[in-house]
Amino acid sequence: MELRKDPITRSWVITGDDVPDSAPRAESFCRFCPDSPDAPQLVSKMPGVGGGPWSARAVVHPTPLYRIEGEPSRRGDGIYDRMSAVGAHEVLVENLRHDRQLWMASDAEIQQFLLLAAQRIQDLKRDARFKYVSIFKNHGNNAGQEFEHSTSQLTATTFVPRRVLYELRAGRDYFKAKERCVFCDIISQKLQQNQRVLEVRGDFVALCPYAPRVPYETWIVPRAHEAAFERVGLARAGSVLDLGALLRRTLQRIRTVTGEFHLVLHTSPNTQHQSKSLDYWRTIDDDYHWHIEILPVVAGKAKSYTFKEVYYSPVTSESAVKRLRGAKIEG
Ligand SMILES: [Zn+2]
Ligand SMILES: [Zn+2]
Ligand SMILES: [Zn+2]
Repeated sequence: MELRKDPITRSWVITGDDVPDSAPRAESFCRFCPDSPDAPQLVSKMPGVGGGPWSARAVVHPTPLYRIEGEPSRRGDGIYDRMSAVGAHEVLVENLRHDRQLWMASDAEIQQFLLLAAQRIQDLKRDARFKYVSIFKNHGNNAGQEFEHSTSQLTATTFVPRRVLYELRAGRDYFKAKERCVFCDIISQKLQQNQRVLEVRGDFVALCPYAPRVPYETWIVPRAHEAAFERVGLARAGSVLDLGALLRRTLQRIRTVTGEFHLVLHTSPNTQHQSKSLDYWRTIDDDYHWHIEILPVVAGKAKSYTFKEVYYSPVTSESAVKRLRGAKIEG
């Protein structure tokens, strides 16, 4: 696998003919369950909740897209740029139990999973080769789910993913013009007008964005300004319990519409990596605001995301928030 940069959009893509077989192998056991005979290499684990040996753990992805060894060795190829697929690719096992998904787990279990995510981000940001650490979950066949066990994935990359780069640049430009964080402004307007707000819990709010990319798109954001998720995670574990509860309740709401979704955590990039091409380092703590994005995959409306030139959402966020707010959820 190697990374190539599109010289027009300046986005990196990962490409190669040596793609591991993504079809699920017929295995009679789950390699992420505690008693697996073929357990992947352990990276880190969180203490058990309620007597278990562990509650959440990070392991090396069995067929990683990125490999930890080596240097990115960025090089030119005529007008093009390429580099080796150096990075980290881990599976974050959310729960000891095979089928205990985030929306069914206890708040304490989700808290441990979120704390594990924060620790892994902080740890990988110590590696100056990596510009960004992403955490995401694809759930459901149409969302590209890879494993049956309740898991999320993590990648540490030598580049900042395209969507995050858009957000960083937009955040920086908005801050330059107004000396305010665009995310803080969005949140305060939504809360003031009580529009498109799904639920407020502790320091966090779940909301439907003004211009959704897909029907029922939902974000979870901290109400107080903070650029880095891992800083909140590690400094205020109590607040992470509220975040876990809000995540669980939001996923329950979304599951009344569809069982399939993408979830991604957007946090600030690695500022240890002194890049000259990205000059956002001085204001990054002021102009970026971490958040979780949930992009539901709604059956029959696939047109909205197979056609990606212009996002098309046949449900407005005003209607989405009404339906999700009214959803019957447990606890
Ligand atoms: Zn399992
Ligand atoms: Zn902010
Ligand atoms: Zn985002």
